[in-house]
Amino acid sequence: MTKFIFITGGVVSSLGKGIVSSSIASLLSLSNFKVRVRKLDPYLNIDPGTMNPSQHGEVFVTDDGAETDMDLGHYERFTGIIAKKNDNITTGKIYSEVLKKERKGDYLGSTVQVIPHVTDEIKSFIKRDLKKEDYVICEIGGTVGDIESLPFLEAIRQLRNELGKKATYFIHLTLVPYLSASNEFKTKPTQHSVKELLGLGIQPDLLLCRTEKAFGDEARKKISQFCNLLFDSVIMVENANIIYEVPVKLNSQGILKQLYNHFGVKKIPKLNQKPWKLFINKFNNLKKEVDVTIVGKYTNLSESYKSLNEALFHSGIKNNIKVNVKWLDSRLFEDYSKSKKILSNTNGILVPGGFGKDGSIGKEYAIRVARKMKIPFLGICFGMQLSILESVKSLKGFEKASSTEFGNTTLPIISMLHEWTKDKEILKHDKQNLGGSMRLGAYVSKLKKNSKIFQIYRKYEIKERHRHRYEVNYNFIDIIEKSGISVTGFSPDGKLVEIVERIDHPWFIGVQFHPELKSTPFNPHPIFNSFIDALIKFKNEKN
Ligand code: GLN
Repeated sequence: MTKFIFITGGVVSSLGKGIVSSSIASLLSLSNFKVRVRKLDPYLNIDPGTMNPSQHGEVFVTDDGAETDMDLGHYERFTGIIAKKNDNITTGKIYSEVLKKERKGDYLGSTVQVIPHVTDEIKSFIKRDLKKEDYVICEIGGTVGDIESLPFLEAIRQLRNELGKKATYFIHLTLVPYLSASNEFKTKPTQHSVKELLGLGIQPDLLLCRTEKAFGDEARKKISQFCNLLFDSVIMVENANIIYEVPVKLNSQGILKQLYNHFGVKKIPKLNQKPWKLFINKFNNLKKEVDVTIVGKYTNLSESYKSLNEALFHSGIKNNIKVNVKWLDSRLFEDYSKSKKILSNTNGILVPGGFGKDGSIGKEYAIRVARKMKIPFLGICFGMQLSILESVKSLKGFEKASSTEFGNTTLPIISMLHEWTKDKEILKHDKQNLGGSMRLGAYVSKLKKNSKIFQIYRKYEIKERHRHRYEVNYNFIDIIEKSGISVTGFSPDGKLVEIVERIDHPWFIGVQFHPELKSTPFNPHPIFNSFIDALIKFKNEKN
């Protein structure tokens, strides 16, 4: 029987519900259980695809082509379990399903209401597309007390009633603030948050208390008494140096024991914590460091490029080096000599995915610096497209090379598929439905044998995740290659450019996909492993 673990948050937002959900999932999966992690988001957007990443963080893309909440990235990184479209739902999607059914007449004349119609839809989502999982962990977005999350909380309350106590478990994450003036930990916000939940008919089975530092038994006892919980069911989540310490920290406080007790698990499986311990040990023993400069637009919030930060970190650990990531807003330097001055001391330059003309000139200058000064360079998605533009523009007569993303152009080196005309004929490509819409999810690329990228993957065929509207226009392949760029990865039909490299450069790679989405601590991505290795070599040669 599949068991459901629901994780809610209280007191304030940003306590790290995604990380604790991922950590619990990791502990269960390292105990050999079959686990699935899901996120229920209370906002009204159908998915986060249209949201500005500086507001809501990165848009995570799944293999099956869904644009999802960034927490799904944490789930994958902590567990290695590939997330699916059906693992993320928003209020917007729930309502759109309900309204679709209403128009179809599925409700047979009844008045359509939040209870039961919306809550039924939420429950059916929670139970949908499961394949005999032992545990399904459902993180409820938002903070208890928000108007938006009420239908979700009502739905999980109903599920407890329907499936029974032995198949459901409620975890509530709260904050226990420390007041330095009086040298005390305050339990009142937690008490209030639990009271709020109780008012909605949910008694938490376990409390996770975020705290700056460990608090004593007294505070724990107080929380357990006032919140109607066993002492052992009040667990501290102390601040950690890195998020990857959380699984081991949670385990050290007996969280699994509490879970197993509740569910009546008789045969307790062995938990293999070794991979986390090794990883943390490597992190604690890093001695050297390298710098990488990421030139982007949403530089005000590193959450906008969460997976990228993590991927660089994973590969740093793999290479036994601390990677110092410096963020640079490309809008600040739209001039070559200025960018040269800013970037000449870095060990590597990375231009990540992005959208729009704004800031693109600064990114191109950064790429020029990397090309001319032979600084290791990785261009991801938009970064690859700009690296091609930068290169072609340096050829006489091609200074106007552009992307149709920036407006009309006579040299549409980068353009949408339906704009790829040759002698006024639209070039045909296998995937006809791509014109104007995003290429989303995992696609196969074929790699050229004598290439750096082949040395990196050691495979002829790879599958990586995409999220872009524009493509390198196949009609300009000759001129692109003439500018010094070699195309070393293509779509299987040979029409879409997936990977480029510079032949006159020690490490200069551009990829149309997002390798960062597939990097995990236990399985860091080969492109980032090689990039970090190149940064180390570059730094050592310079010194
Ligand atoms: N703006 C570009 C496109 O839509 C690149 C997108 C990205 O970097 N994710 O093709």
